[in-house]
Amino acid sequence: MKLLPGLILGAVLASAAAPALAQPDSLAMMTGRLRDRAMSGSGAYDILESLTTEVGPRPAGSPAIARAKDWAIAKMTSLGFSNVHAEPFTIWAWFKGVETAEVTAPFPQPMVITGLGGSVATPPGGVEAEIVLFSTFDALVSAPANSLTGKIAVLTQRMGSNESATGYGTANRWRRRGASEAAKRGAVGFMLRSLATNTDRAPHSGAMNYEEGVAKIPAAALSSPDADQLERMARRGKPIRMKFTLLPTYLPEATTWNVVGEIPGRVTPDEVVLVSGHLDSWGLGTGAIDDGAGVAISLAAAHLAGERKPRRTIRMVMWGAEETDQAGEAYAKAHAADVSKIVIAGESDFGAQHVMYFQTPAGSQDLRMVQMLAEALKPLGVTYNREPSRFGGDDIGHLVPLGVPQLGMRQEGAHYFDIHHSAEDTLDKVDPAELDKATAAWTATIYALAESGVDFRKAAPAK
Ligand SMILES: [Zn+2]
Repeated sequence: MKLLPGLILGAVLASAAAPALAQPDSLAMMTGRLRDRAMSGSGAYDILESLTTEVGPRPAGSPAIARAKDWAIAKMTSLGFSNVHAEPFTIWAWFKGVETAEVTAPFPQPMVITGLGGSVATPPGGVEAEIVLFSTFDALVSAPANSLTGKIAVLTQRMGSNESATGYGTANRWRRRGASEAAKRGAVGFMLRSLATNTDRAPHSGAMNYEEGVAKIPAAALSSPDADQLERMARRGKPIRMKFTLLPTYLPEATTWNVVGEIPGRVTPDEVVLVSGHLDSWGLGTGAIDDGAGVAISLAAAHLAGERKPRRTIRMVMWGAEETDQAGEAYAKAHAADVSKIVIAGESDFGAQHVMYFQTPAGSQDLRMVQMLAEALKPLGVTYNREPSRFGGDDIGHLVPLGVPQLGMRQEGAHYFDIHHSAEDTLDKVDPAELDKATAAWTATIYALAESGVDFRKAAPAK
């Protein structure tokens, strides 16, 4: 086939303009190289293996989080980060203690539960009462006043799959609000079916809140098969009695840390690309997918991108109290005066699987750098979602009111809630190849953001 004159002219024009294009072209080339470098072994799995083995579970405010902080400092130092330091802040803390439950009548047998994060303790001998089952949260909140006096309210509603509208986003409020809704109607305890997408006998924890001015009653999650068992018992029509004991530790004041390390920018060190994962976990598993994986992905990616010494500073932050939502707020408060240096912030906190799509701040969709990055991520199966990223994670979300642009990196998570917040959240659930694939997407993205001069605050249309 003969070349058409138009194509020849196009080629001549492109070559005439070559000096101006040199930088974007080399940015694309390096971004692609770094992606491939991470795919061939990013080091993320070794980081995750080290954290989950040498520290294990690490609730914020516990002695374990202090060991995690020391681990983080040593790890970032050994990877060549600069300005490695821990930023302490004061939090309320809650750790698990004794957690037991049983049906005492009419079919006595043990049940498997775990306390919800923030729950008050039962008396040392436990709470025993008749239970009232609710198949939906709506049924619980429409129960009449005093209808639960002296009873334990049990919510057996199933969380929908993560893809459906009744997934975690919806179910989260059942866990957060259930105890107070039950207490308003006189209940002395609250249990719910674990917010989970699988059926093993491991209960799933997570944070709950007490409503101001409402009695604080102990609250726990039942494993899914135990919730099924209670439903079968209830169908037999006789009153069911349960006894449960929760003896957690609650500290009104404890210390935790956001741990920070940087790769100083080659040209504009005062411009910061912030990437992050959270160091804390609940106490049941070893926090492998939540969020050791996010720490490992972002740390390995920052390290690999940083080896090319990009123009801007890469700042790695390991958040010290995500699960009780106290880390991002502490960071925003401590850095209110200097967050204008953060050109964009990202957070990896949705497991250890590959990235499905990414989003950039409003107004940046058609920028050359963003289009280049979209091309560079295509071989990883990552698509570009043009919906602007307004919220990139629980911790960096606290920087939104301070005007910090957010990066959105959505990981695949069809099975995330099978093990999230449960004793099953352990290293064996992580596929090293998937972890490398996620890290490759982050590595390319961090490098492109740190090497480009894009000002996402200016890119964003004024609102
Ligand atoms: Zn998390």
